[in-house]
Amino acid sequence: MSRMDRPKGLEEFRFVGDKRTQIVYDLDNCTESDAVADLLEAEAFATFGPDALPEARNRGYSLCRTCISEV
Ligand SMILES: [Zn+2]
Repeated sequence: MSRMDRPKGLEEFRFVGDKRTQIVYDLDNCTESDAVADLLEAEAFATFGPDALPEARNRGYSLCRTCISEV
């Protein structure tokens, strides 16, 4: 698996959530660049402060399935 580049405009964020599905992507590990690109195009993404998985989980997001093995 190859790592994807962080999307433009989200360089400062590692975790980006999809408000439609309540799934959070770990941009440093996720290989689903298509899913992330779609998310950005729909402008349905959420970022977290702090930019960390526990914060995303606190807000009801679940980690993307294909990211789990990398965490
Ligand atoms: Zn993933």
